[in-house]
Amino acid sequence: MLVSTHDLCWLHDTGRQHPERPERLTAVKNGIDESEVRDAIEWVEAPDAPREALLAVHPASVLNRLADLSASGGGSIDPDTVVSAESCAAAIRAAGSGLDLIERLDAGEADAGWSIVRPPGHHALASVQMGFCLINNIAVAARHLADRGERVAIVDIDAHHGNGTQDIFYNDPNVLFVSLHQYPWYPYTGRPDEVGEGDGVGTTVNIAMPAGATGDVYRSAIETVVAPVVMRHRPTWLLISAGFDGHRADPITDLGLTSTDYGEMTSDLLQLVPAGRRLLFLEGGYELEALSNCAGAVVAATAGVAARPEDTTSGGPGADMVELSRAIHLSS
Ligand SMILES: [Zn+2]
Repeated sequence: MLVSTHDLCWLHDTGRQHPERPERLTAVKNGIDESEVRDAIEWVEAPDAPREALLAVHPASVLNRLADLSASGGGSIDPDTVVSAESCAAAIRAAGSGLDLIERLDAGEADAGWSIVRPPGHHALASVQMGFCLINNIAVAARHLADRGERVAIVDIDAHHGNGTQDIFYNDPNVLFVSLHQYPWYPYTGRPDEVGEGDGVGTTVNIAMPAGATGDVYRSAIETVVAPVVMRHRPTWLLISAGFDGHRADPITDLGLTSTDYGEMTSDLLQLVPAGRRLLFLEGGYELEALSNCAGAVVAATAGVAARPEDTTSGGPGADMVELSRAIHLSS
């Protein structure tokens, strides 16, 4: 497995007491370095994303404003979303990370790649930067793949709805977007009846989990909804928005998952496409020990090893919401 990052990602400075802070990356790195599969991992340095690849998702005005804000020393885009002097350079590396991993997987260098970067991306719409996100890293990678004719499936297991990714591909039948997220919760999108529009109807799938949802409910959602809709899409690549803020210790959400649940979910999802066509993107996750444990469990799962840093969880609510999404997308 390849893990891609860059030192600049630590220099994106969100200010004191911001949950999306550089220590998150260190926690993830430590979790990987302490994993029993660490010897199977190669760390690679993320290059800059080519300007054209960014322009395929975001208009020049948005990219130029980000560059100008960083060049002037930084500022706030909204109360949550902060830009520092190094943020533009970090964001361009963060987006380049996924593109570089695609090139490396094309060359047969590994079975899977994981982009461990910040700023995260899944709340960034084409023209609106929000929710700690500046450039939508997973969308840049998915757009690049779709533009060369690949069929892409994105599964977003961050606790928050990936509203930016959904919006970018809402009309696009070649990119399937599936999100499991706490609802109602920030950013207040991701209702089950948001299913795509135009040619993209049916290729947006939302599973809206209530607070307290546990690992058994998530795995049932993967088995009965996510796996069938992904297989129906016949993807050639699977991209996972891997946010770990669904961990029950996370300070900004109320889901009930553990790191072992995340490992098992990752294992279930990776089976859906062949080795060499699997990419993960770090999104959220704000409790440092939970982040380390999740990173360790997920990287082990990617190597086919079941690590169990914590117990799995069960008995939480949400089965009715899984059934609702199944009925919307798979009844016929
Ligand atoms: Zn999140």
